Amino acid sequence: MGQKPPKDPAALRRMEEDARQFIWHPFTQMAEWEKERPLIIDRGKGVYLYDIHGKRYLDGVSSVWVNLHGHRKAALDRAVKDQINRIAHSTLLGLANIPAVRLAKKLIRAAPPGLAKVFFSDNGSTAMEAALKIAFQYWRHRGKSRKTKFVSLVNAYHGDTIGSVSLGGIELFHDCYAPLRFPTHKVGAPYCYRCFLNKTYPECRLACAEEVEKVLTRHHDGIAAVVVEPMIQGAAGMLTWPSGYLRRIRDLASRYGVLLIADEVFTGFGRTGTMFACEHEGVSPDLMAVAKGLTGGYLPLAATLATQEIYEAFLGEYREFKTFFHGHSYTGNQLGCAAALANLEIFEKENVLEKLRPKIEAMIRFLKPLKDYSHVGEIRQIGLIAAVELVRDRVTKEPYPLEARMGYRAAREALKRGMIIRPLGNVVPLIPPLSVTIPQLKKMASILGESIRAVTEV
Ligand SMILES: *Cc1c(COP(=O)(O)O)cnc(C)c1O
Repeated sequence: MGQKPPKDPAALRRMEEDARQFIWHPFTQMAEWEKERPLIIDRGKGVYLYDIHGKRYLDGVSSVWVNLHGHRKAALDRAVKDQINRIAHSTLLGLANIPAVRLAKKLIRAAPPGLAKVFFSDNGSTAMEAALKIAFQYWRHRGKSRKTKFVSLVNAYHGDTIGSVSLGGIELFHDCYAPLRFPTHKVGAPYCYRCFLNKTYPECRLACAEEVEKVLTRHHDGIAAVVVEPMIQGAAGMLTWPSGYLRRIRDLASRYGVLLIADEVFTGFGRTGTMFACEHEGVSPDLMAVAKGLTGGYLPLAATLATQEIYEAFLGEYREFKTFFHGHSYTGNQLGCAAALANLEIFEKENVLEKLRPKIEAMIRFLKPLKDYSHVGEIRQIGLIAAVELVRDRVTKEPYPLEARMGYRAAREALKRGMIIRPLGNVVPLIPPLSVTIPQLKKMASILGESIRAVTEV
């Protein structure tokens, strides 16, 4: 059953050779990768991944932020198997399907109030791309075709398509594509440990939000939307926001007549302790993108949620050409929707959010001792997302140079100790599946601590 790894050592070696020869890995320096022995995953169970040699690893970053209930979750397995016995895929271009209908209804019930329609796609970048195009086109339909620009934040990550990259604010990933990017209003983002205004929370009274206001005051006539990753900028290094900032951005967007697009691709589905990060501040965005955890980490599926008002701006006679001319081949894929539906049912049936609370508390406790390590600058956490920022000098906060690859080295140490994590520059994250148990969390935190010590205290 399935694709078992070959049994004899020669065949296993050949598989490793083939891994080097045929795959080009994302966000990976392949020259380096080719020199190392490739880690090939064979199977998973709960918070564990197993390689082709049978070696077990803790999945310390939820397979890069997607997995929620662990691997081989029975209810998810069953949902996909049951669906495949009916149909794997039919197009959503003008045709509905059962799991897509059920999922859309359930998603809207779970989402912040005001969101009323679900536009499906298949990954986070495309969900954001759709949000951008909808926001842009919405204003055209409203007769305000000058509103074409976006406000996005420094350190933002919204995906890898050109629209998402245009909104992005991470030098290392995005600057190379400068000639391809459309211009946006880039505003400094909250990152209290290294405040770009050199202020301290809460005495600053969220001066960083005033930067957004300045742009909106001057340019709102030309602005379609403000785009944010609510509560935490993930890819930039798990930069958590001071409380009140998101609420302020929502209020500013409303006051200046621009839309608010919330990118909940990473934060959605319990990761921050609430179903969606926007709930932390009682915020309802006008457009919201979800992906990663939508299927519990099983299948590529994404969605852009929109308010009724936005949706209605696209209605009209065909000859008015107000249609949203956008869609992907696998939009609304039944297998993905069946998994997503089962995912949302698990939240209800198993009280996933309730059960998170003690885990979140435990995580804070387990990570606390790391604060005293000589090269730990800051530990950040929201919900079950934690990250440790390594610094060369704790007093001056001088960062390690990127070339020193401290995060990468810590991750290598973690691998030796049986945990897979993926660093973000000098930041070492710990993002376990929500199903993690407290003893497993303790183990993860202790491996994290040992790995950090192994590379910083030499
Ligand atoms: C991962 C991510 C994306 C992109 O999603 P993909 O499915 O990888 O295209 C967009 N926004 C945020 C906040 C993300 O973390």
